[in-house]
Amino acid sequence: MLNFAGNRRWVYAQQVTGYFRSLRHRTSIVLQLILFVTPWLRMNGHPALMVDLPARRVYALGAMFTARDTVLLLLIALFLAFALFFFTSLFGRLWCGFACPQTVFLEEWIRPLEHWIEGSRGLQMKRDAGPWNLDRLWRKGAKWSLYAVAAVGVSMTLGSYFEEARVLWTGGASSEMYWIVAIFAAIWFLDFAWFREQFCNYLCPYARFQSALTDDESLLLVYETGRGEPRGGADAVKAGRCIECDKCVAVCPQGIDIRNGFQLECIACGACIDACDDVLGRLGHEGLIRYDSIAKQQGKKTRLLRPRTVAYGGLLGGLAVAATAVLMARAPFESTVARAPGSLFTVDADGWLRNTYLMRITNNDPATTQMSYTVTIDGLKGAQVTVPDIRLGSAESRTFPLVIRVPPGDDLPRAVPFHVLVNGPDGSLVLNATFQTEAGENDSHD
Ligand code: SF4
Ligand code: SF4
Repeated sequence: MLNFAGNRRWVYAQQVTGYFRSLRHRTSIVLQLILFVTPWLRMNGHPALMVDLPARRVYALGAMFTARDTVLLLLIALFLAFALFFFTSLFGRLWCGFACPQTVFLEEWIRPLEHWIEGSRGLQMKRDAGPWNLDRLWRKGAKWSLYAVAAVGVSMTLGSYFEEARVLWTGGASSEMYWIVAIFAAIWFLDFAWFREQFCNYLCPYARFQSALTDDESLLLVYETGRGEPRGGADAVKAGRCIECDKCVAVCPQGIDIRNGFQLECIACGACIDACDDVLGRLGHEGLIRYDSIAKQQGKKTRLLRPRTVAYGGLLGGLAVAATAVLMARAPFESTVARAPGSLFTVDADGWLRNTYLMRITNNDPATTQMSYTVTIDGLKGAQVTVPDIRLGSAESRTFPLVIRVPPGDDLPRAVPFHVLVNGPDGSLVLNATFQTEAGENDSHD
């Protein structure tokens, strides 16, 4: 079998039923509903969640964010990263076992299809050890064909977060977009058909820094050595409870034996708990594997509040407050003002001094109705402001001339700083500008 690390044994994970399998299945349904349905939802006339890279915009829950919101988006990204750190320090790798897209797709689609087409674990092993006969060929062909369909579906869905779903799924997107979707579909196919658990073990960055995020009080999978060992069960008096059925190993999607102690490969999916509960439950005993912490195993307390979780919690609180403050202060439009190119200081026939600027206003309000904006200035005594009627539709961006006239006066310096106030329906922006009173001044940008 081709492998990534040179020592891989193909994992023939046996199907398992039980409390945690059922919990994972229900969690997966909710997550998949969110993943597959969200791109088709619209709020305020725009996708409910979409990153429009060419336009450098992000649509999220009815709001529209642009490059001007970089700080807010950075705060949100940091919040999500620290939320994952916080969650990991408390609950270990539950994300990997229950919510990671790789796990969800493998456990909900890929392995069930494999079992449906190629049969049980034993049959799969037997066929794979045999020759490439017609039976093996058609089963592999059918399985890989369905994997290809799943890979294209997943890739198109992920692409729908970067291009309108209706456009992408009806062939209206750019050829570049379809090339990107095709490349990701090929990667997903490779993952489904071959790479699988190697992604967690060798490539996933989250898995790599797990050990730095967890401690002895974090939740992980533990095998009760005290009750389980020595294995065998043949000697009813001396032996431990583990009957060496190896079912916990057979169901493990990572191909590990949890009885050897905590291993970095374990994704905390709980399949081994279900397996052991089932086997020993039939014999009237409690299972030997459970979610627990190393500290508890050593007879110590497991605290929710400890330096690591408090630090992450504090950071999360600080980031939430900062993001909320930035969000509250945010105007749903953006504007710049700059001196009109080539325009110099002008003296009108009536002696007034005139400067001309170009104002660019972008309406970031996702509501589809037109928005009106007014412009006033502050800091230029007796000034007259001429600006056209400004109305912009959602996501519309236009440039307007702004003409400012100031009455003549001996006391005016060469350059007078002032403020341009742009007032929209839901907020206002203050821009800095400079009024020039003598020809030959350098253009000033604001
Ligand atoms: S050891 Fe158990 S919890 Fe860990 S990956 Fe294997 S089956 Fe899942
Ligand atoms: S499933 Fe339980 S009894 Fe069977 S080998 Fe694993 S730990 Fe032992």
